[in-house]
Amino acid sequence: MTGQPDPFRDSAGDPASHPGHPAPRPTAALRGAAPLLALLALAALVSLAGWLGYRFSYDTALARQAERGQVQLRLYAQALESELAHYDYVPGLLTLDERIGTLLRQPGDADAVARANDYLSALNTRAGTRVVYVLDARGKVLATSNWQRPDSYLGEDLSFRPYFRAAMEGQLGRFYGVGTTRSESGYYLSAPLGARDNPDGVAVVKIGLEPLENRWQGADSQMLLADENGVVILASDPSWKLAALRPLSPEARARFAGNLQYNRAPLPQLPLQDVRVLGNGSDRLVRLRQGPSMLAQQSALPGTDWQLTLLSNTSGARVVALNSAALAGVLTAFVLLLGAAWNVRRRIIGERLAARAALEAANSELERKVAERTGDLSATNQRLQAEVAERIRTEAVLRQAQDGLLQAGKLAAVGQMSTGIAHELNQPLAALRTISGNTVKFLERGDYETVRANLGTIIGLVERMGRITGALKSFARKPGNGLRQADLAQAVDNALFLLNTRIEAVQPRLQREIEPGLAVACDANRLEQVLVNLIGNALDAVAGRAQPMVSLHAHVSGSMAHLTVRDNGAGLSEDAFSQLFEPFFTTKPAGEGLGLGLTLSAGILNENGGSLSASNHPDGGACFTLVLPLVRQEIPHAG
Ligand code: ADP
Repeated sequence: MTGQPDPFRDSAGDPASHPGHPAPRPTAALRGAAPLLALLALAALVSLAGWLGYRFSYDTALARQAERGQVQLRLYAQALESELAHYDYVPGLLTLDERIGTLLRQPGDADAVARANDYLSALNTRAGTRVVYVLDARGKVLATSNWQRPDSYLGEDLSFRPYFRAAMEGQLGRFYGVGTTRSESGYYLSAPLGARDNPDGVAVVKIGLEPLENRWQGADSQMLLADENGVVILASDPSWKLAALRPLSPEARARFAGNLQYNRAPLPQLPLQDVRVLGNGSDRLVRLRQGPSMLAQQSALPGTDWQLTLLSNTSGARVVALNSAALAGVLTAFVLLLGAAWNVRRRIIGERLAARAALEAANSELERKVAERTGDLSATNQRLQAEVAERIRTEAVLRQAQDGLLQAGKLAAVGQMSTGIAHELNQPLAALRTISGNTVKFLERGDYETVRANLGTIIGLVERMGRITGALKSFARKPGNGLRQADLAQAVDNALFLLNTRIEAVQPRLQREIEPGLAVACDANRLEQVLVNLIGNALDAVAGRAQPMVSLHAHVSGSMAHLTVRDNGAGLSEDAFSQLFEPFFTTKPAGEGLGLGLTLSAGILNENGGSLSASNHPDGGACFTLVLPLVRQEIPHAG
């Protein structure tokens, strides 16, 4: 697993995470601040979306409101225009009337004045105007429809009025003004009487515009009519009347003081502030003092220098905009949260995939390692098998070599015995020769009794020789794969028989304490080989000693049979003890000892689950004890 990326740490896509340069981990404070930052960013985006939604929707609603306002303005302008046009004919009408002509010609004639006054009064009533009057060429009122009223204009000098001057210049005069006598505002229309280039007088009609104003009342919006000086002459809110829409210059104010156009009204500046100009360039958003913003739209009144202004409430548009802002904010928040949720989901899926990939990588790494180890193991196994086979072969070779060695050792023992055996055989042979020669003589003499006796002796000698060669042959043969057990006493007897010549030569006191029928787990031939070695060594050790003694003593201990071969020779030296079982250790002269007897004997006993040990007897001489497992089976005593 080492070297695998941690599936729960997302560093795969991080360019900063490099094996040599680990990416700096964000501090705990930064990690803690992340949700707050995300929340702030969300709030900022939602606010931005809300603001954009508000702005867009507000502008759209204002544009729609402006369209409606333009229509309304057009309608009001048309109504106003047709209303004013309605009276256009009245001044002109006076030029045609004889009574007015007479008046101009005879201004001092009381009758002419009285008839003109009556006519004007009747006309005023019919036309529905406020006042109709006639001025002479110097601006003095000659006749007037209101001649009967105490505040009548009759005899007044109105030459300062601009409408008089315009008419005297041969033009039609249009003038809005406030009456000097009753401070009654109205629209004055004037026309020259007589020749245009040199009028005899001026006809004037004053119209009250209040009925129009009354029609504007009650509307949700404010309607203003400003004259050429920017002074409000009509307003749906009467308090706005005679206020200036734009700042009035000192010259203009001086002029108004001269012609009394507004009869000394203070003409305050209407505190309308521009908020901003709308997209179409003509409509504006304005605010009155700190009040709500209003949509201001203007339209020129055809045929005049007057401006009609419509001020409409924008609260409806603001409500719509606020709703849109809220909707945009909510929608944005929803989309952002949806995005965040999708992102979290994407990250979780990504992490899961990374974890799965890491797991798969770990798995395949594990499988690779297992395969590698299995490969190693099977290679080791094959090597071990090869080694085992080699060992088995070596063991077989060794066993062969060992068998060869044992056989060699045995043959060496046979060699050692050969002199004695030759002597053993020579004796009966010599006896045979002598007895057979004598027997021939006794036969010739006819002494059959002696012949029979001799032949009996000969048979005995031959049998004895046969036993010797038989025993030798049996000893020298290679052990077969037969029964791996032997009778201990029998084996001792056979060994003693083989060593008979040497025993006779040494003449030891032979002690033999072996209970018959002890079966031990060892090939009989091999056991005999061991015993020939041990007894032979003992004979060598006691040879030439006074009162030589060799004892053979067997006892059973547990499941093992012990046989001790003791002699009263010189015993074992320190040097001999340390090398006793090493091959080729011998203290005997060349040709007498090979130094293999004890080595091979110990090997044979070990191989059969037994052992061989040596010690010096306290009374002197060496003791060799062989130990072999007992076989709990009676072996038939063989002769
Ligand atoms: P070999 O008899 O051919 O020398 P062995 O292996 O049988 O070979 O004996 C090795 C040596 O052990 C002998 O040469 C002798 O020195 C010593 N040895 C064996 N048996 C006796 C004994 N009974 N007493 C004293 N020395 C012994």
